[in-house]
Amino acid sequence: MNLAHLLQRSARTFGHRPAVFLGERLLHDYATLADRAATLGQALRARHGLQPGDRVGLFMSNHPAVLEILFGCWWAGLAVVPINPKLHAQEAHYILAHSGAALAFVTDDNGPGLAARPPQDSALRAIISVTQDAYASLLSGQALSAPESRGPDDLAWLFYTSGTTGRPKGVMITHRNLMTMVLCYLADVDAARPQDAALYAAPMSHGAGLYGLPLVAVGGRHIVPASGGFDAAEVLHLARHHGNVCMFAAPTIVKRLVDQAEAQGEDGTGLKTIVYGGGPMYVEDIQRALRVMGPRFVQIYGQGEAPMTITALSRAHLMDSAHPQYAERIGSVGVAQTAALVRVTDAEGRDLPLGEVGEVLTRGDAVMAGYWRDPEATSRALRDGWLFTGDMGQLDAHGFLTLRDRSKDLIISGGSNIYPREVEEALLRHPGVAEVSVVGEPDPEWGENVVAFVAPRPGTALSASELDATCQAHIARFKRPKRYVFVEALPKNHYGKVLKTELRERLGAAVRPQP
Ligand code: AMP
Repeated sequence: MNLAHLLQRSARTFGHRPAVFLGERLLHDYATLADRAATLGQALRARHGLQPGDRVGLFMSNHPAVLEILFGCWWAGLAVVPINPKLHAQEAHYILAHSGAALAFVTDDNGPGLAARPPQDSALRAIISVTQDAYASLLSGQALSAPESRGPDDLAWLFYTSGTTGRPKGVMITHRNLMTMVLCYLADVDAARPQDAALYAAPMSHGAGLYGLPLVAVGGRHIVPASGGFDAAEVLHLARHHGNVCMFAAPTIVKRLVDQAEAQGEDGTGLKTIVYGGGPMYVEDIQRALRVMGPRFVQIYGQGEAPMTITALSRAHLMDSAHPQYAERIGSVGVAQTAALVRVTDAEGRDLPLGEVGEVLTRGDAVMAGYWRDPEATSRALRDGWLFTGDMGQLDAHGFLTLRDRSKDLIISGGSNIYPREVEEALLRHPGVAEVSVVGEPDPEWGENVVAFVAPRPGTALSASELDATCQAHIARFKRPKRYVFVEALPKNHYGKVLKTELRERLGAAVRPQP
């Protein structure tokens, strides 16, 4: 089993179909893309001496070369280590050294930083910028005739966790894991067709890049925005231009896209599917998104350790507003994907009754092989074949999973558990609130106090008392924030996730250790 077969098959079947675009401009058809990948694979093996199983780093902003590098490495039997391009060069070096990467591909924006800090303890032999002649020369010469034979459990993608506590860990994602993800995408997320297009508006080192694979499998198009990142107006323009566009985005990015569509008086024409996930989507926000843009949304829940493949909330469920459980369902992350099993258990791994909140466990062919060179962390996360996700959630009788906050975000005030998300959902009902995040701060009397960071909509003046009235109308009194901090915007990481750790630090609160 080798993921490169997906590209080889599409190139045979759809050789002249358009494959890769930069903005509006077509760069390669499928035959060319496959030839470039096979040629690159040969050069990595013959000229750089890489052997099957060796790792290759990608420290790249979104760029049309990403796809051919991923597939070129797989074609040659190598594993890829895509690194968040917004990381500091030293962090990237840690990952390159830890993974034992022999070679790294970079884009011009972050390459020089990496080159300026040559690592001492790393196996890195070359850093190749994709805009330089050294890269172009790898694409001329002989091509490997067939993808290297790989076992389903062989490493395909080493994914480093964002590491909010301690050093990032390398999640070992195998060929079988990603093949399962591809099939689940087609079964549970979107029935992709050759005329569809993946638009890379989020980092290709993460979910957006992973979700390029199903589009390779069906011979669809791949569009890298000229800006290299997320620009809401550009996304709407490219969607109108290309049509049948599918994209993955974190909820905070979806919100910005919806704002832009509304401001332009558009409904997102040309966007077929917007898959959101990676963080909580609030009910107010998805309802507004559906109002403004219609039936274009699907939610997924996954984590690096089970990439994109734990649950999905389908387009049909999101549109089924007449269903008696609709309100609960759109606040959920949907049902287990086709190849995933999901349970909710207590700390010892015993099943909890339906409706009770516990840790979410998953099992299936999408679950990682373990953490790279970290057997201890692996045995904590994988027990009896089940992945302990660290996420808290509850299941209903129909299989819908609702996530609660991660246990480290739970606030315990006066002995009562308060889930920040519930308070955040209540505050978002106030029309003047653009964004909100709720955290706990230490309190000698109560243990913790609830504090809400609120970003008002531009031009709106908000007072603590009116927000308190909104809370009183929707949630129990003891859950109300004791304090409001008004901010212009919430701090977020490169994937659009709100950084609660930073908010707690702003309060001067010690971050509670992870359980
Ligand atoms: P990462 O491994 O960086 O992709 O982060 C995965 C984590 O993001 C999960 O363990 C969840 O805590 C969170 N997450 C992912 N998808 C969702 C979702 N649809 N809703 C809420 N949280 C999510």
